[in-house]
Order: sequence, then structure tokens, then C-alpha cells
Amino acid sequence: MNSRRIALTVTLLIIVGAGVYVWYRNVAHPTPVTCGYCLRPLHANVKVVAEIDGKREEVCCPRCAITEANQEHKPVRLITVHDYSTAKAMSPQSAWYVEASRVMACEHNGMHMDEMKATSEIAYDRCSPGTLTFATRLEAQDFTAANGGTVISFVQLMSEAHFQ
Ligand SMILES: [Zn+2]
Repeated sequence: MNSRRIALTVTLLIIVGAGVYVWYRNVAHPTPVTCGYCLRPLHANVKVVAEIDGKREEVCCPRCAITEANQEHKPVRLITVHDYSTAKAMSPQSAWYVEASRVMACEHNGMHMDEMKATSEIAYDRCSPGTLTFATRLEAQDFTAANGGTVISFVQLMSEAHFQ
């Protein structure tokens, strides 16, 4: 009788322990989802799905995908982009893009302040100038009115990819 109660208690403790572990890993500290090219965190309203040389990746921003393709000397296709204001998925052809605004598209979340300062002064940033995506030209223009930057079309954006 006593040993059965102990066995039951141990089993319960294991179940509770497993539950806490799962909660800790998935809710309290979810595995960070990062860019397939530069390992920065993905943001729902900036990320894109891109294909370089037929290989599909989730990428932190359109700029990162184009930079990667140019570095690899390969053509890039944007498959899905996300609206900066609503995070809604869109087809890249119909979207409008803002470059060189004061808003950084990709944040260096993983870095400490002094590290960031040191690297931003010496290192070239593959995601800069950040590129943000908007559903309509008007929204993109409203954004640049408040935050600076230039509105460009999909064709203009893709002309920055050197290997078609
Ligand atoms: Zn990236």
C-alpha cells in the first residue's frame, strides 16, 4: 500500500515536472525563430519568404534576401512579404517598399548595447538600409512622411538584385 502511494507520488511529480519543462521551453522561453541567412530574429511584420537558387527560407527582411543573393551571385525570388502595419501576408509584386527610413527593419535583439555600438561603427550591416513593406503606395507614402525614406515599387526593389 505504502509503496503504491510512493509510486503514485513519483509519477505525479514526473508529470508535473514535464509540464513545467514544456511550459518553460515553449511559453516562457520560446525557441527564437531566426532569419535563415543572418540569424536575426524574425518579426511578423517585416519577414519575407525568399527563394535563392530554388532553396526557400524565412528571412528577416527583403533587404537581407537581396544582399544574400548578391553575395552568393545567385538570382533571388521573393515569395511572400508582410505588411509593416498589419503583418498581413501579401504577394510581393503588388506591394510597395520603403527604403532608408529612420525605422530599423531588423533589430539586433541578441546584442548588448556596447557590442552593438562597437559593431555598428565598424561593421557593414547587411540589412541596412532597412526595407519595409506596405500594401498600398498611399500607406508607404504616409509612412515616409512621418519617418523619412523613399517609396519604391517591386520592380525598383528587385533591380537591386544583381543576378536575375
Ligand atoms: Zn536576415
